[in-house]
Amino acid sequence: MIPGLEPVPLRELQALGSVRNWEFEGQLDELPSLTPVRGNLQAEHRGNILEVSGSAQTIICFCCDRCLKQFNRKLSTQVNELIWLGDPEAAEAMAEQGLDASSVDGLVECLDPRGSFEPERWVFEQLSLQIPAVNFCGDDCSGMPQAANQAPHASLSAAADPRWQALLSLRADVGEESEVSRD
Ligand SMILES: [Zn+2]
Repeated sequence: MIPGLEPVPLRELQALGSVRNWEFEGQLDELPSLTPVRGNLQAEHRGNILEVSGSAQTIICFCCDRCLKQFNRKLSTQVNELIWLGDPEAAEAMAEQGLDASSVDGLVECLDPRGSFEPERWVFEQLSLQIPAVNFCGDDCSGMPQAANQAPHASLSAAADPRWQALLSLRADVGEESEVSRD
């Protein structure tokens, strides 16, 4: 719970008649982070629309999908969003406000005008969108555990499969030859 980011009734924002500002610092319950989530947020009620903008940043510990090591990554977001206050089916009214519900990226967020705006949820959603689908620790990634670290000979000599025997004896022959040629 981030102190100060409690839900605020939309009617309250409407009655305010101006921009409401939040400065915040704290931990999101649903997104554990190494450093507190810090940022700021502004919301303005404009009749049929709530304009929300803000930025937030934190550092999160991820587990690399490839080498399974943990690594830290900074997450930051800066967003300006228009939230439709009313019927999500009211495409015509949305268009009048410059919101296109049918466009490719027109996934318009909607809120019940009688409900509340949840600043903490908004911050959580914006940061969550920044989390990559695949976690990769970077160019120094050591790769998959075991497979990359195992010496090729180890798997060969350890194999109980008799079919490897021919290869093992071949390797032994090559070793003897090279010793001879070195003399
Ligand atoms: Zn890795």
